[in-house]
Amino acid sequence: MFNYDQYLRLDKFPLIWCSGCGDGIVLKSLLRAVHKLGLQKDQICMVSGIGCSSRLPGYVDFNTLHTTHGRALTFATGIKMARPELTVLVITGDGDATAIGGNHYIHAARRNIDLTVLLFNNHIYGMTGGQVSPTTAKGKKASTAPYGSFENTFNISGLAQAAGASFVARSGVYNPVQLENYIVKAIQKKGFSLVEIMSPCPTAYGRRNREGTPVDMIAWQKENSVPVAKAGQLTPEELEGKLITGILVDIERSECRAEYQKLIDRLAQS
Ligand code: SF4
Repeated sequence: MFNYDQYLRLDKFPLIWCSGCGDGIVLKSLLRAVHKLGLQKDQICMVSGIGCSSRLPGYVDFNTLHTTHGRALTFATGIKMARPELTVLVITGDGDATAIGGNHYIHAARRNIDLTVLLFNNHIYGMTGGQVSPTTAKGKKASTAPYGSFENTFNISGLAQAAGASFVARSGVYNPVQLENYIVKAIQKKGFSLVEIMSPCPTAYGRRNREGTPVDMIAWQKENSVPVAKAGQLTPEELEGKLITGILVDIERSECRAEYQKLIDRLAQS
């Protein structure tokens, strides 16, 4: 039986998350991935912004940094540039990373800096009051969209791919083993690695949109997920409202900190 306690700050419990929140499932998948890779706790630096998911670093016994709203990637970039030997993990949400932090998100991917980003997509600002986020689907209600959102949404994984990330995968808490495996691959990949995680928010999103129980929300994920290989055989109409899951990008591309090191070495020789 895997012992989660060895990686946890048990004095920080109980968790702040609501019962039925998907974030605890992600935490467990992450810890199994860290264990599988044999990473030492001091080798890891975990950085988060603001939001429900961003409370995660408080519960793990790594080097951790809980920063300001939308800025996790900037802090993480600085850490990776100064301490490239560390495994730098970024914990963020759809609002934190792609609204207030949207500019940092696309530029971190463009630089292809060696960060592993776990982006919890719950389609709403949970902690800060249930406001509409860049991934709230049209017609879905939020505190700032009481009659339903009328805005188009971001494809978060597609955005990272277009900006230049070297690894992009999408999974959900309905499949924690797949999630664990993607986190392992993302950490192993040299470059900007994104794992977009569909993590239901039964409180701020589910109640308001009458999505049923937390189990109903996880079951919906499972029923509406389409593996990327199968998605290629379906029409855009058939894919409407579906979650395309799997490894979406896995390419080799020059990595920012390595390029910076080449510059340092060249200048040292001149
Ligand atoms: S508000 Fe939503 S995302 Fe935040 S802890 Fe509760 S269920 Fe989870």
